[in-house]
Amino acid sequence: MTEQVPVAIEARHVPASMPAWAVGRPGPIDGGPLAWVERPVPVPGPGQVRVRVSVCGVCRTDLHLAEGDLEPRRPGVIPGHEVVGRIDQLGPGCTRLHEGDRVGVPWLARTCGACRFCRSGAENLCTGPTFTGWDVDGGYAPYLVVDEAFAYVVPDGIGDMEAAPLLCAGIIGYRALRRTALPRGGRLGIYGFGGSAHLTAQVALADGATVHVMTRSAEARALALDLGAASAGGADARPPEPLDAAILFAPVGDLVPTALEALDRGGTLAVAGIHLSDIPVLDYQRHLFNERTLRSVTANTRADGIEFLEVAARIGIRVSATPYPFDMADRALSDLSHDRVTGAAVLVMPEYGP
Ligand SMILES: [Zn+2]
Ligand SMILES: [Zn+2]
Repeated sequence: MTEQVPVAIEARHVPASMPAWAVGRPGPIDGGPLAWVERPVPVPGPGQVRVRVSVCGVCRTDLHLAEGDLEPRRPGVIPGHEVVGRIDQLGPGCTRLHEGDRVGVPWLARTCGACRFCRSGAENLCTGPTFTGWDVDGGYAPYLVVDEAFAYVVPDGIGDMEAAPLLCAGIIGYRALRRTALPRGGRLGIYGFGGSAHLTAQVALADGATVHVMTRSAEARALALDLGAASAGGADARPPEPLDAAILFAPVGDLVPTALEALDRGGTLAVAGIHLSDIPVLDYQRHLFNERTLRSVTANTRADGIEFLEVAARIGIRVSATPYPFDMADRALSDLSHDRVTGAAVLVMPEYGP
């Protein structure tokens, strides 16, 4: 049995260096693009806090980065942007967070704060953003530093393992739901039912929505019904009633006209993904007339994240996560790439330090 050591005492024994996973030479995941390296334990700069990582979710974006689909912005960067841990050191000038706070570190690491989008509350559209695990080192390591303004305090009701996938998949799905402007008690269609969608569905259901899920996976359809969806059909099935709103999670452009056609008058379709295959030619009368709206979703604001974590805690969101030991990050990414992971893969740190 490992003895439980209080956080404050533990924090005094910080080693000078730590093992970490870094993106070596990007390429196919089974060729080992991640390197196991030794790095100095980072020291928080002004306005930053250092987080002792307890878990880090494995996101598909990490896979894109490791494989080179997402161009590395900094050689040797440490991936990981679904990080949960406790603050063990404050940099100079921190006022918002405290040592020992349990925080989440998300994809959005910093915005410029000066562009017209930042100034108008649309920081998700910032023209000069910085991302965790892409521009700056992320959580595939026992420690990382983060601007205190961009870390989330994780509500008490949510465990570390559950919190990790909420920080990326959860928040983006939540923003997509808000972008549909679904009326209270409205009818929502969800196309594709993976990590992000199953969290979003729970928020909509808790809000009193009627949810119809369209997905090709029989297992996902069963999960949808289990969570309370009113119906679950095939990927391009027609929902049993017209929809007030729909979210397209599947990266399949062919489904855009399908989903638009399923909307009632005045309905909105939000496309949640970063990537989407080509959208076929739309027919104005069939797909858009009667004030149907097609919208995209780009990243999220901090306000989205704070709001979502509060909602997630309040409704007791169910998260399915599969733990992997920290030193098996390469295996977790390989499993993700080959669809061998049930729920979200989450790296778990061993007790670290002397
Ligand atoms: Zn992500
Ligand atoms: Zn900006």
